[in-house]
Amino acid sequence: MAKTTLKYLKDRSEKKVVGLHQTIASKALQLVEMAYNKGYYIAITQGLRTPDEQNALYAQGRTKPGKIVTNAKGGQSIHNYGLAFDFAVFDENQNPVWTGNTYNKVGALGKQLGLEWGGDWKSFKDLPHFEYTFGLTLKQLQAGKRPPGSAVIGTVPNSNNYLDKGDQGTLVKGLQGKLQALGFNIGSTGIDGFFGADTEKAVKEFQKKHGLVIDGLVGTATQAKIDAEYKKLSEKPKEETPVTPPKKEESKVDTSKLPVSKQFEPEVREATERGITNGARPQDVATREEVMVMAKRAGDFRPFQVEEMHKTFVEVKDKLPLEKPEMWEEKLKNGNVSIQEVLYFLTQLTLRSFK
Ligand SMILES: [Zn+2]
Repeated sequence: MAKTTLKYLKDRSEKKVVGLHQTIASKALQLVEMAYNKGYYIAITQGLRTPDEQNALYAQGRTKPGKIVTNAKGGQSIHNYGLAFDFAVFDENQNPVWTGNTYNKVGALGKQLGLEWGGDWKSFKDLPHFEYTFGLTLKQLQAGKRPPGSAVIGTVPNSNNYLDKGDQGTLVKGLQGKLQALGFNIGSTGIDGFFGADTEKAVKEFQKKHGLVIDGLVGTATQAKIDAEYKKLSEKPKEETPVTPPKKEESKVDTSKLPVSKQFEPEVREATERGITNGARPQDVATREEVMVMAKRAGDFRPFQVEEMHKTFVEVKDKLPLEKPEMWEEKLKNGNVSIQEVLYFLTQLTLRSFK
């Protein structure tokens, strides 16, 4: 008999929709049930990420020890306004499945509920992401506009801090970064944002070491202990915990004098709409930092995106300033790319889109 029951999926989803706008929370739970009735096992894995949580993540690797896990500050994501959620697909034994066509099937179901699906975005596809902004743009939200029925930010508990196997995204990266900084082995894939078996093992080791309940689940008690240990680390002298600065890539092209190509106008418009570029100069060139933010935000990296990238690459390879296009094509075709390479590739691709 399948371990993955509707009750299991709904229970874990209900914990993650706390703090979301009630309209989107109920749509999220409705989607879980709709998908289940079609034979797709999904659960909501992330909902509200408050600006404070986002800023704390932003500090990681910058003013706090460890590696950088995000380039987005608080307020730069629809998640920060409680109007977005992510889901994960599970198999019948409650194991997360990170890739596959089910994400597209669920995307179609969500759209039936009137949700905007990240898989429809042109510039960066985000298959596990849905949002519902009541027609408001990120810029309007940043300016303080809120849809009717919104809770005031700061008055909702962050109970979606609760993380366990199957979760993915920036919060998981934050957790992995802290565990790694504290000396726990999070597995060979490093800070990848996927809460799989290796991350679970590291959590259990942390719990064992600190006399907590060893369940591999990061609830309030475990989170508080990790934060406390991590804070101690921050207070140590700097030389004991060297902070690795992000590698600076050399720009091969001077992008500052290049106009936006007609071909990419929709992408630029979308990037501006979504607040990924500096809206003050949408027709201008993105700065290197903005490009990195773009790449990073896209780079809540997931394996299936490599397939998309391979398709895009074949279409645009002649226009990219790459020295060995055949090598890239081969790598992308086989999915044999590191996160750093994906980031580099996305950066190149994005730079091109601004020419
Ligand atoms: Zn999302």
